[in-house]
Amino acid sequence: MNDVYTYRIGDNLYLNLTNRCSNRCTFCVREEGETYEGYPLWLKEGEPSAETVMAQIGDPRRYAEIVFCGYGEPTFRLNELLRIADRVHAEGGRTRLNTNGQGDLINGREIAPLLKGRLDGVNISLNAPDAASYVALCRPAFGNAAFPALISFARSCKRNGLNAWFSVVDCIGREQIERCRALAEETGIPLRVRTMILPSGQAEKPKDI
Ligand code: SF4
Repeated sequence: MNDVYTYRIGDNLYLNLTNRCSNRCTFCVREEGETYEGYPLWLKEGEPSAETVMAQIGDPRRYAEIVFCGYGEPTFRLNELLRIADRVHAEGGRTRLNTNGQGDLINGREIAPLLKGRLDGVNISLNAPDAASYVALCRPAFGNAAFPALISFARSCKRNGLNAWFSVVDCIGREQIERCRALAEETGIPLRVRTMILPSGQAEKPKDI
């Protein structure tokens, strides 16, 4: 079967630009199997070019949103992401990024100024209220630097006028969620709680993947 670079769920089209990620989250759907919602998202033939992905998108107005979200962290493909987002906007579509918030570390620069005007929404996975909890849950390659970088990225999104929000998975428990809520309020960024995706067959649908 050919690699899947774009996949449809509901009214949205999702883009699977990379399998690289700076985290190894304990709850990641990638750990549960080869497929997500029936789509095999492991890339066996390498990462797709922006042109290939844009050709597969076609007319973006056929979808509610074009979402950068696959089996990996999309900001590893920042240049391609920016080009695709520009094209989607030029053709009247809407864009969203689902990110672990480590794009500044990954790219060695502040990326929110580049995202400004190109993304209609930025979903930043917060998932923990402090660095130690984050490291335990998400096992970032950047170690203790990951969490403050994530918060810094969120603040940078806000400064740059991006429509950004934090998300947490409900598996972290009520007390951690409330601490995340307090942190989100302090940062001035909304928080959304989404249902954890369980192994296939037991899964509740994610509220916001
Ligand atoms: S950041 Fe996302 S893709 Fe990466 S390990 Fe965590 S859940 Fe999986």
